[in-house]
Amino acid sequence: MRSPINEIPAWTPADDTAPRSPAAADASDPEAETPEMPDDARTGKHRVIAPPSSVRNRAAVVAIAAGAVAAAGQAASQNNAPAAPDTTEIALAGSSADVVAMAPATVPSGTDNTVAAPPSTAPQVLNIAAPVNLNQFNDLLAKGAKFAQERAAEEAAKLRPLYVKFTSGSFTSGFGARWGASHLGIDVANAIGTPILAVADGTVIDAGPASGFGMWVRLLHSDGTVTVYGHVNTTTVSVGEHVMAGDQIATMGNRGYSTGPHCHFEVWQNGSDKIDPVPWLASRGISLGIERD
Ligand SMILES: [Zn+2]
Repeated sequence: MRSPINEIPAWTPADDTAPRSPAAADASDPEAETPEMPDDARTGKHRVIAPPSSVRNRAAVVAIAAGAVAAAGQAASQNNAPAAPDTTEIALAGSSADVVAMAPATVPSGTDNTVAAPPSTAPQVLNIAAPVNLNQFNDLLAKGAKFAQERAAEEAAKLRPLYVKFTSGSFTSGFGARWGASHLGIDVANAIGTPILAVADGTVIDAGPASGFGMWVRLLHSDGTVTVYGHVNTTTVSVGEHVMAGDQIATMGNRGYSTGPHCHFEVWQNGSDKIDPVPWLASRGISLGIERD
């Protein structure tokens, strides 16, 4: 190496600044550091040798990072990209720093890499980043959407009323004696086809022909009460079906012993005791209005 005797006199004036200015040392004696550069590149050490090469290294790393991220983005958008064995590593590579950190591992240790060599590793990073499986995301999205729909349906069900007026129209006949006979229900008249709704949640126990009513629907509710909807024109539910308050169960008709299109509604307490539906409905917030013929 250099002889201290020769060097000391020449550097004495600038001795204090020499260590802080490696560039000056390089300029004055380019040969001094040259032998070490290949070693640093091979071993992967990033020891600062001289400002010019350090700047080049940093710029190269940034270029690799930018290239890798851009390349990964392109790869992710390609469905036919080659599949890689381990997608877990990809999931972990959440930042450009991770991607860059993975790059050196793909470089064979025995290769004589110069500063310009690392960019050639970008395609290998590509091969690792390619297998992002968009189908998995689609599955997750589909499951999430289904879950959200189910939750929305549950919430909507909670907001539905517990009791609903069974149809719309004119309250034409009340409960009790009528024309010398007992009228065990109430009548609401409207046009044929007017929707008839379940007055409360329940299970359909009859939906079809019935003596006197022509056609009827009967619902069994959770407290044992049965509600009856008579003279219907059509039924829109089946026996065994569970309905919620407000669900349509039939359309208004004029079948059986009827003098005009209307719905005959009965309430059977405990499944058999036919009570006046008006106070039963009123205690559940439902008014039929003034009775009129
Ligand atoms: Zn009636």
